[in-house]
Amino acid sequence: MARRNNRRQFLVNTGVLGLGSIGSGSLMTAFSQQVNVPNVVPELQEKPALLGGKPVLSRSWPSWPMVHKSDEDAIMEVLRAGRWYRNRSVEEFEERYAELNSARFCIATSSGTTALFTSLGALGIGPGDEVIVPPFTFMATVTVVLLHYALPVFVDSDLETFLMDPKKLEAAITPRTKAIIPVHIGGNVANLDEILAVAERHKIPVVGDACQAHLAEWRGKSAGSWGTTGCYSFQLSKNLCSGEGGAILTNDEAIADACFAFHNCYRKRPKAAPTADFSFGRNGNFRMTEFQGALLLSQMEGIRERADLRSDNAAYLTKLLSEIPGISPARQYPQCTRNAYHLFMFRYDPAEFSDLPRNRFVNALRAEGVPCSPGYSPLNKEKFLLDALRSEPYLRVYGREVIDAWLQKNECPENDKLCEHSVWFYQNVLLTDHQTMDKIALAINKIKKHAGDLRKG
Ligand SMILES: *Cc1c(COP(=O)(O)O)cnc(C)c1O
Repeated sequence: MARRNNRRQFLVNTGVLGLGSIGSGSLMTAFSQQVNVPNVVPELQEKPALLGGKPVLSRSWPSWPMVHKSDEDAIMEVLRAGRWYRNRSVEEFEERYAELNSARFCIATSSGTTALFTSLGALGIGPGDEVIVPPFTFMATVTVVLLHYALPVFVDSDLETFLMDPKKLEAAITPRTKAIIPVHIGGNVANLDEILAVAERHKIPVVGDACQAHLAEWRGKSAGSWGTTGCYSFQLSKNLCSGEGGAILTNDEAIADACFAFHNCYRKRPKAAPTADFSFGRNGNFRMTEFQGALLLSQMEGIRERADLRSDNAAYLTKLLSEIPGISPARQYPQCTRNAYHLFMFRYDPAEFSDLPRNRFVNALRAEGVPCSPGYSPLNKEKFLLDALRSEPYLRVYGREVIDAWLQKNECPENDKLCEHSVWFYQNVLLTDHQTMDKIALAINKIKKHAGDLRKG
């Protein structure tokens, strides 16, 4: 709104408005003046904040987590009742979360990592198996594969969407492939149509990593409700949080029973089918506590409204940033009917910013008052992963030849490019208003205008 008002004000000041009948030549002039408006915005003339100028934005950002009296009451109720161990708060949360996502079953876990770990455990995945993962994700997507001594196989990213390139999936499948983990990174939904079609052809289970995708939808259905399981995280930074916590969604009763047994000392789910029986044997304690359950129930208040606000601001910001040459917001598939916008991700092209390096751009934008991050580094090349694969237990299971061959073909060139160019804003930046989105665009335009000085300075 502010931007439109400024523009209108400008047009009034220059006498473009209210002239009544003007010839088409004047209209052209009016139009080009309108396009050039950013150049007369005084803030654009200012010195960049990184070089000592005044920042474009001075506002404080919505704090995260959001804490209300109801959260306090929920925690105190559990505390005083001495009901600290898996009980009715966790069970009610499971029911409500399944309902929210139109999934048949929900199993709450201690974290997103243990939700993924449990899904793979319940599927009986172990040493010698391969699990397909994308490289543009948080390390936990791969950590859980390593915890089962399985081999992660990377499918390169698609630059436009930041997601696993579905066209490259089938070529990565071997007779040893036992699961595919598509990640809905930033809340943008991976191409489930194509991934599930390939998975079905090869009879491979799909464990969705929806840890950043609360309320995200594919074809109007919750992203985590597709595939064999969908896994969520309630870690502090996530769009729904309880410090730590996780959940598995599934529509398959046998999988729900198996996940429950794996996460809870081989016990039967209270409502398990009489036929429930497992053969994987391995299990553990990956339970959610009552404190987390109660806190999540109260934190769910307003979750849809917050999601709507993020979507509205993200759509507006996408439009603004798409007009800036060198800034390319992550594209979403048309079947992604709701993006969770845990992250607002875009690619930054230094060539359009006088070769100002990406990290310098990020620092300049932070200095203008916009919190942002350069995003992930290539996961397939991380030290922890290479260390694990070269560790004694891995060499014992796979042999040096298999591990060396893996290291040889471990290339994701598109993802390398993506990691060099990505920038993102966190979800709380989107819990604001259009005026703030205008200012973010203005801050980027300001950096662009002074990019040469910033590069030198
Ligand atoms: C947060 C996250 C996880 C792990 O969740 P935790 O609750 O932190 O264990 C896994 N995958 C992705 C993509 C995440 O963002």
